[in-house]
Amino acid sequence: MSAAPPRNRADIVAVDKRHVWHPYTPMARYIAETDPFVIERASGARLYDKDGRSYLDGNASWWAASLGHGHPRIVAALVDQARRLCHTSMAGVTHEEGALLAEELVGVAPQGLSRVFYSDDGSTAVEVGMKLAAQYWVNLGRPEKRRFVALSGAFHGDTLGAMSVGGVEVFRRAFAGLLVDCIHVPPPEGLGDEASHERAFRALEEVLSGGHAEIAAVVLEPRVQGAAGMRMHDAGHLARLRALTEGLGVLLVVDEVFTGYGRTGPFWAWDAPGCPDLLCTAKGFTAGTLPMAATLATERIFEAFLGAPERAFFHGHTFCGNPLGARVAREVLAIYRDERILEHAAPKAARIAESFHAMTAIPGVARARSLGMIGALDLAADPSYLGTVGQRLCAEARRLGAYLRPLGDVVYITPPINIPDEDLEELLSIVSASVRFALSSD
Ligand code: PMP
Repeated sequence: MSAAPPRNRADIVAVDKRHVWHPYTPMARYIAETDPFVIERASGARLYDKDGRSYLDGNASWWAASLGHGHPRIVAALVDQARRLCHTSMAGVTHEEGALLAEELVGVAPQGLSRVFYSDDGSTAVEVGMKLAAQYWVNLGRPEKRRFVALSGAFHGDTLGAMSVGGVEVFRRAFAGLLVDCIHVPPPEGLGDEASHERAFRALEEVLSGGHAEIAAVVLEPRVQGAAGMRMHDAGHLARLRALTEGLGVLLVVDEVFTGYGRTGPFWAWDAPGCPDLLCTAKGFTAGTLPMAATLATERIFEAFLGAPERAFFHGHTFCGNPLGARVAREVLAIYRDERILEHAAPKAARIAESFHAMTAIPGVARARSLGMIGALDLAADPSYLGTVGQRLCAEARRLGAYLRPLGDVVYITPPINIPDEDLEELLSIVSASVRFALSSD
């Protein structure tokens, strides 16, 4: 017989520490020292802990809850769908929500992307993108095109394929020898820094010109390398990269898992002529409600998989195209349209830019940057993922009523895109006070 369910905060933490293995968490320190948030419920931009307090969700719960928590239309759609159909496979089967979602997604996607392959999360969306790219070349009789190119510091997920194109060394180290062949090139560093964009482009050009005969695809987070520490680059880089890859017969996989659904301002961060060959979306795709993702492809990619049965894409997750997720994803698109989410986000983004820029005056802040609904600060001249000042800052923010999670020495906010103005103001003032606190106690 199972034990009675734990009720109070201390019991939950005790059970958690006995059994749960947390992601991206050094567990010895967690068990010995961490008093975790114990979230009981959430509404709008606020998380409610079992300690009786509410906390502003400064990172939209791992960059996913782009419409805040518990949006009434999303909850209603989910409940309604649950009554009708929770699950069916999509192998030779279809359903209304999955079919209509694909049509609606193509309607908002960069023009030229016309096919939708569903999966579960950001990692699987990227994994699908990589496998489609590799098999595309096999189907075209070019099996030697198998290598990938990505940016240093990139993050594309945690499965072995997605991790191979990732460029955060600390995450990859233990898996050396198991990873897919990927060449990492230096990224452009900083909005408007033309010299660095030129250097990055030249480095990429050199790798692609020399190796395109063996390179399947370039994989890229457009405009912002999130986990790298919110490193940003200009839209012009995308256009040059598209022209370069197209000219050399290399596919371009754009990972919009973090940047899609208005995070950088426009609906997609892809802001260049033409379209990528493959585009991955997750997180905001269901506004953080359910694990569901998609990889969009052009007709040219799709057609390479037609013909003899062995040319088909033999890949599919149990829950790909799940009706609950599909219904929610459709409701999310409808809310973006009906509530004019991007239009209302523009002045919020301007406030983030203004506030983060002002924080450069705080002694110890090395750099500030912002793009759309992202604001980031470097708390060290050469930020490290293993730095601790960000943790001290986030502990102070928690005391003041906000949930933040640092990327080492980089602290950032990525709040819900529809965060109410008064909540945003409170969040910005908590960040500013926490930065002062953390740097003065350095
Ligand atoms: N790509 C990018 C750009 C991401 O930021 C992330 C997650 N932070 C992923 C892929 C992986 O997504 P998931 O955690 O849903 O697998």
